[in-house]
Amino acid sequence: MARAFALIGRAASAAAIVAASAGRSRSLTAGASVSTLEVEQFGCLTDNYGYLLHDSATGCTAAIDTPEVAPIAAACARRGWKLTHIFNTHHHADHAGGNVELKQLYGCEIIGPAAEAHKIPSIERPVSGGDCFQFGEHEVHVLDVGGHTLGHVAYHVPSLQVAFVGDALFALGCGRLFEGTPEQAWASLQRLAALPPETAVYCAHEYTASNLRFALSVEPQNEALQARAREITELRAVGKPTVPSTIGYEIATNPFLRPASPALRAHVGVPDHETEEQTFARLRRMKDNF
Ligand SMILES: [Zn+2]
Repeated sequence: MARAFALIGRAASAAAIVAASAGRSRSLTAGASVSTLEVEQFGCLTDNYGYLLHDSATGCTAAIDTPEVAPIAAACARRGWKLTHIFNTHHHADHAGGNVELKQLYGCEIIGPAAEAHKIPSIERPVSGGDCFQFGEHEVHVLDVGGHTLGHVAYHVPSLQVAFVGDALFALGCGRLFEGTPEQAWASLQRLAALPPETAVYCAHEYTASNLRFALSVEPQNEALQARAREITELRAVGKPTVPSTIGYEIATNPFLRPASPALRAHVGVPDHETEEQTFARLRRMKDNF
């Protein structure tokens, strides 16, 4: 499976958003654009997604995580791109396992979370939440999204209105809390939810159909979720990705971003005094045993 998303321009509020077939592909244009960024999406391992971010103005090409070397190398060859960077989101093997081999193949620079630098092979540029770095002609903002792992980071490219979120946030779900507390994960999800609603969310796994079953079990009356369910079923029936999503779509349908929803709270039986953070923790525990 290989899909390309061409997202052109410097975007911002003046951006015109044109959603193509099934709302899965979009292009952004904003006035006279001088540089072009593209995202190339492809399957890796069983249910991971690999991503390449390419800036045609400078030739810079980044792999977002390194789940599997061969599909990443194949995507570079298919597009005629040379890998110049790796952006790691966290230390799990299906996110950083290809670092060493890709570094040998391409001599690329590896950027990753400072808090997990001791666990990720070959990090040369450690970054933390709040950091900002230049990729070609574009700024990349680093967000602290710890919880799934303690040092997990996400990469937000404001000019392209995209965020690579690893395992912190999934379409209709969020990562299991292997290392962090619910408090930490809730704060991380709030940081992602604060991004502009049109921001495309590139998560690292195709878990959406499974996540959908849990989401419907806790908020079955949510009409936006019901509509999304139909779309997901259609896409998966023909083997198409449900990723990327958008921040706005997740806020409307993802139960882990909706602990304030009266309908969800009533359906789950949440006591009135329970805080959103506590309800998030409750939902995470329910999903772990779903
Ligand atoms: Zn992980």
